[in-house]
Amino acid sequence: MSYLEELFGLTGKVALVTGGGRGIGQVVARGLAKAGAEVAIVCRSGAEETLSLIAGDGGKAFYIAADVTSEEEVDRAVAQILSRCGRLDVVFNNAGICMHQSTMEMTPADFRQVVDVNLTGEFIVARAAGRAMMERHLHGSIINMASMSGSIVNTPQWQCSYNASKAGVIHLTRSLAAEWADYGIRVNSLSPGYIATPMSVDTPQELKDAWMPLIPMHRMGKPEELVPAVLYLASDASGYTSGSDVLVDGAYCCL
Ligand code: NDP
Repeated sequence: MSYLEELFGLTGKVALVTGGGRGIGQVVARGLAKAGAEVAIVCRSGAEETLSLIAGDGGKAFYIAADVTSEEEVDRAVAQILSRCGRLDVVFNNAGICMHQSTMEMTPADFRQVVDVNLTGEFIVARAAGRAMMERHLHGSIINMASMSGSIVNTPQWQCSYNASKAGVIHLTRSLAAEWADYGIRVNSLSPGYIATPMSVDTPQELKDAWMPLIPMHRMGKPEELVPAVLYLASDASGYTSGSDVLVDGAYCCL
């Protein structure tokens, strides 16, 4: 085994990736499988493309349909993973949505929907996975998807629901990291800047024009550029890292 495999390898581990059917989740699922993990992809509308890419790489993956806002569906998904693989070591808690609206355009129902998926959904998944890890005495790693928008207000991209949900994810992460440290479960969050995915394609052009000058690297990030950070957080390489928020944002400056 090479030194890098020893540090970052995931052979024999089982990973759950929510929102793995496209975008960042798809690319990270592929990265986890290349590092040796068997990957369970959880989302609502299928993951054929992700499964075929991972199979093409020679990796192992399977799909479970579930909505992360449903405790029942998430519990069933975790139970399926355990009965098929016998363990769960890594969670990439990534499923999320965004609505670009000013606060006066946003109804309380819109706000609730974003918080429900981005924050409550991550809580539901982390809780089900944490329980499975505790019961099996597995020293797992949970990586919650946050965003740089969880720490900064990125004008004029009005999206208070998204910003609030991601700030909540960062603090949920710190809370779980402290609460579950005695079980050997590490919990960290990942905060990307602008990453080119189906979600960011939907961003109005006027907003992209406004924030592009704020990226000192003068470009959006690629989902592939998040994979090394996830492998670090998922593997034993980050054994003393928990409760951290890892920023991958091209040095974004919001004044
Ligand atoms: P995409 O829209 O490309 O993918 C989102 C994924 O989440 C899809 O697979 C979708 O699948 C799944 N999903 C959405 N709602 C649910 C739900 N209720 N239950 C289960 N799965 C769900 O987004 P990105 O890849 O761009 O974003 C992934 C994560 O990264 C999000 O949390 C986002 O907030 C975060 N992020 C993205 C950034 C970017 O610039 N792209 C920057 C910072 C953070 P399906 O609809 O089939 O369920």
